[in-house]
Amino acid sequence: MDESAGGDDGVGPAEAAIALRAKKLRDAMTAGAPIDWPAEYRLLLERHGRLAARLDKVVAIADGYQASSRDLIERLERVNEQFHQLRDLGVPVCRYCGQVRVDDRYQARVAAFLKHHADLGLARGVCSSCLEERYGERVRPSVPAPTSRDAGPRPDPAPVSDSVLNRVRATLADPAHAAAPLLAPLEDLAERYEKLLRRLNKLVLISDRFQNQLQDSNLHLEHLASTDILTGLTSRQAMTTWLEAEVRRARGEHRPLALLSLDIDHFKDVNDTYGHEAGDAVLVTVAAAIQRDRRRGDQAGRWGGEEFVVVLPDCPLTDALPIAEKLRATIAEQWVIIGEQPIAVTASIGVAVFTPDDTIDDLLRRADQAMYAAKHGGRNRVVG
Ligand code: GH3
Ligand code: MG
Ligand code: MG
Repeated sequence: MDESAGGDDGVGPAEAAIALRAKKLRDAMTAGAPIDWPAEYRLLLERHGRLAARLDKVVAIADGYQASSRDLIERLERVNEQFHQLRDLGVPVCRYCGQVRVDDRYQARVAAFLKHHADLGLARGVCSSCLEERYGERVRPSVPAPTSRDAGPRPDPAPVSDSVLNRVRATLADPAHAAAPLLAPLEDLAERYEKLLRRLNKLVLISDRFQNQLQDSNLHLEHLASTDILTGLTSRQAMTTWLEAEVRRARGEHRPLALLSLDIDHFKDVNDTYGHEAGDAVLVTVAAAIQRDRRRGDQAGRWGGEEFVVVLPDCPLTDALPIAEKLRATIAEQWVIIGEQPIAVTASIGVAVFTPDDTIDDLLRRADQAMYAAKHGGRNRVVG
């Protein structure tokens, strides 16, 4: 108990002193001795004042205890609630080997949690099965499922810093409260509260790490979805989005826009003569040449099979034709070595330029028509 509340003699001795003083007064009155009443009154008033001040201190301390424990209980309830919410996201670690079991149920729980907490604002991607369904390409997720080894060495337990806990700890450590009646339950409560805080901090760390991994894998999948897997060029879907934006800009800002449609010549013969893998090597070589040759700001994509498109923003026909011609010549200089056998590659290129009434399909159709005209004209040429 606070010494200042009771004083050295405590409340009991103070009362005894008053009682003793009252007895002396009674004796003096009985004996008819003279009594200094103002002095007696002053003395009483002073003792009363000291007692009242001590009582106020005791009340303040009790109020403080009450407020702290109320606060503590409220916080414990909140922490408990948060803990229960987060528990579903806890990483399932095997209690025997310490490995993370990333099983389907865990994925489903994380998915359910994220579905109901869309406000977390995770980047959206495309899952590998949707990618496969849409593009017919087999995509193995290249971001491995997190394992306990990925998590690296366990971090030291983060120091728990909490204002209520600090205050309660300070109260508990103060020798003045050594005999306080609420000390033991408060100590117990503080210990449990600190334990909960530590567990909550750990869970928050784990869920942060998972969120980062999810974001990384979403970015990776987004990149995969917009990239042609064989050639590394932009996929047809992403190319369409790009073309839509460029057509909008060309129409809105009255800017020229050109489109190249490129088709490898006699590609089927390469497959038939040297095999599908040789065909793939030719596709990769042509794609690399297109990528190397394109100007900054141009966008090149694989449209399908052995057909490619190149979008040339701010490019009138007079510029697009020499660009296409240069690309044709670059491709014609390529030799793809299959075993010992060098294979020559050529391509036919059609050029179309955007006019304000064009839809994207109009522009693509005209570029294709020009490309077919190049084929009919003998291949390995540009028509615009
Ligand atoms: P042309 O000069 O008239 O364009 O003749 P071509 O043989 O190039 O044209 P065609 O359309 O007859 O053949 C295209 C071939 O491309 C048919 C198909 O088997 C092959 N092909 C489509 N996609 C791929 C691929 O990803 N890899 C390989 N190796 N071949 C592919
Ligand atoms: Mg073709
Ligand atoms: Mg072809």
